[in-house]
Amino acid sequence: MVENLKGIAASDGIAIAKAYLLVEPDLTFDKFSVENSDSEIERLKQALNKATQELELIRGKAVETLGEEEAQVFDAHLMVLSDPELIGSIESNIRDNKVNAESALKEVTDMFIGIFEGMEDNPYMQERAADIKDVTKRVLSHLLGVRLPNPSMIDEEVIVIAHDLTPSDTAQLNRKFVKAFVTDIGGRTSHSAIMARSLEIPAIVGTKEITALVKENDMIIVDGLEGDVLVHPENTDISFYEDKASKFAGQKAEWEKLKNEKTYTADGKHIELAANIGTPKDLAGVKNNGGEAIGLYRTEFLYMDSPDFPTEEAQFEAYKAILEGMGDKAVVVRTMDIGGDKELPYLTLPHEMNPFLGYRAIRICLAEQDMFRTQLRALLRASVFGKLRIMFPMIATLGEFRDAKGILLEEKEKLVKEGVEVSNDIEVGIMIEIPAAAVLADRFAKEVDFFSIGTNDLIQYTMAADRMNERVSYLYQPYNPSILRLIKNVIDASHKEGKWTGMCGEMAGDQTAVPLLMGLGLDEFSMSASSILKTRSLMKRLDTTKMAELAEKAINDCDTAEEVVKLVEEYTK
Ligand code: PEP
Ligand code: MG
Repeated sequence: MVENLKGIAASDGIAIAKAYLLVEPDLTFDKFSVENSDSEIERLKQALNKATQELELIRGKAVETLGEEEAQVFDAHLMVLSDPELIGSIESNIRDNKVNAESALKEVTDMFIGIFEGMEDNPYMQERAADIKDVTKRVLSHLLGVRLPNPSMIDEEVIVIAHDLTPSDTAQLNRKFVKAFVTDIGGRTSHSAIMARSLEIPAIVGTKEITALVKENDMIIVDGLEGDVLVHPENTDISFYEDKASKFAGQKAEWEKLKNEKTYTADGKHIELAANIGTPKDLAGVKNNGGEAIGLYRTEFLYMDSPDFPTEEAQFEAYKAILEGMGDKAVVVRTMDIGGDKELPYLTLPHEMNPFLGYRAIRICLAEQDMFRTQLRALLRASVFGKLRIMFPMIATLGEFRDAKGILLEEKEKLVKEGVEVSNDIEVGIMIEIPAAAVLADRFAKEVDFFSIGTNDLIQYTMAADRMNERVSYLYQPYNPSILRLIKNVIDASHKEGKWTGMCGEMAGDQTAVPLLMGLGLDEFSMSASSILKTRSLMKRLDTTKMAELAEKAINDCDTAEEVVKLVEEYTK
């Protein structure tokens, strides 16, 4: 029988395929005594062999898809598997205590993990502890005869089902085989959802119960346009959605005709439609979707994709590649925004109750300046290869902006003294994601070159509703008049000082929000590349004077987000 499930539509498109469960299997076991230690040691050896073969395969795949450096983590795992001291201790434990292999393995590895984790000031040993944990899980899975999921090993068309996907899980998904993904938790602006849009993989998040409902290989339909999931569809459902998928493909082909055009409104005003990217690899998507600039490069993904802090040289190469790739088109590079849902395996941050309100982004950069200075130097060196704009994230106070800009100028001066060429034409701006900065925009506008409104965070902080939490997603209201008033305040403040305002939060590509933002006079819209062409098509139909009237009414006459949506519908009919 077909079962329907509703979630949050996170990335457009329709997919029909069988389920691949990316869910941690149950690795619990009982401890019991064994008479024949030799056969238990033999079981252990077989599990170790299978784990080694599996890891070698995974390593080979990782080299192919991610490169030799990224694959190094698996070398460390293979070393653990062949470590004579560790394996010898497990075998002695089985022999001396006459216990089953699972419990001997767990006891010994827990002991090593405990010792290594205790060396708090030694990041190398912390990493070894993490390696042993991973390897223990793999060997246990073979002892227990259960499969450990591994997204990089997927080699047939599937829909990935997971409780949650971290940004690094998402980065590993192979577009060729992963036709869509569906998760229990998350919101439209969680980073895995944002990445799904960059990768153009249909996605539905926040279904609450997909992992409880679906079994491996169940047939599934994902409608990423509406947020609908169908499990065990009937033949009629399959033909209905095949038809819908081909209509959607037709619609996309229509939009594609606008690829080489600039964006003009019905009354002939040019608006810049830019793209958000996470890696230099995303440039192809920007070109294919007719991006007029890069409005946000989330540099933290460079840090997340690297086994250790990326060197100045590695960063320079990435920034240069993007600037050169975009030619004379502007590239807004945001300095590192780690924290919240974006973690670095090699930067151990203290556990916090509220990571989104905690130690993240510019707060880390101003406290741990070596890392920040390295990034700024790489950016400054790359600045001569294109039209660079530098943007600081999560600015709450003018003091933070002044400090960050001060460090940038110091590094620039040093480079110039060293004889390195640096552009004198770099605009320096901030993200407006914290309500305090939105309210004080008139003061900021005197000192910054531009604003870019980060609505993903601005909405969560204004509405006090976690952007990742599907239970409060009803409060995540881009069209709430309170949010529109904050946006208006920022745009007006910048224009008064002759500066410009862009938006790089997901709201910029939201088809209901676009008419309102046009009316408010937003200068640049930056979004997932896959949203650019449909937005261009929408803007072509809209008149800015009429949209200004709409925005004024929404701000002055509406009490609720629902009223605003109705008004937008009336004005854009
Ligand atoms: C935002 O907060 O709107 C934004 C663009 O930044 P991020 O989604 O990376 O937090
Ligand atoms: Mg943000």
